[in-house]
Amino acid sequence: MLNLIVFGAPGAGKGTQSERIIARYGLRHLSTGSMLREAIEAQSPMGIEAQRYIDHGHLVPDELVIDLIAKELDVHPDAPGFIFDGFPRTSVQAHELDDMLLRRGHPVSLLLALEVEEQELVARLLNRGLTSNRADDQSETVIRNRIEVYMRTTLPVIDHYRRQGKYHGVSGMGSVDEIAERVARAIDPIILKR
Ligand code: AMP
Repeated sequence: MLNLIVFGAPGAGKGTQSERIIARYGLRHLSTGSMLREAIEAQSPMGIEAQRYIDHGHLVPDELVIDLIAKELDVHPDAPGFIFDGFPRTSVQAHELDDMLLRRGHPVSLLLALEVEEQELVARLLNRGLTSNRADDQSETVIRNRIEVYMRTTLPVIDHYRRQGKYHGVSGMGSVDEIAERVARAIDPIILKR
């Protein structure tokens, strides 16, 4: 089983590269951002609560996303592996994820961090905002807030997995194909070792 964290700032290309990874390795995609947007769309009580945070560029409470991930792990016990896209985003979430996966006997295999310069992140998100219909992509203030939250609260997750020898950074600059090639070069050796 391959459990892969696709990590990076908002706009780093996590969703795009996750799609490429799924096409190549057939893993199950778990994107907390997408799950939350679906809940908002459905206007469920959880979605309504989450929207208050998301629209301002804040993180939703840990318990909420941990619960979402735990449920998905339970529903798909036979998955060949998971891509965690946009999760974990805090140290608490990282510890919880480790515990959940350990209980299921398949720990995190790799944290793949897409590294992109800040100016490029803002440009990509503003551009995505033209077509994404996402409230959090529309305002430069909210975008900058999301990047600041990433720097302050999410980046320490890298150290958590670096200590476990599982961190691998790749440049997220360039074309989607070029980045996908770098990503594959990071994952293939792990597949071969298993
Ligand atoms: P994303 O689609 O991954 O950029 O997520 C969109 C928004 O959903 C984020 O800006 C957060 O407000 C919220 N969100 C997604 N994943 C998480 C998470 N793991 N922890 C807390 N908030 C999250």
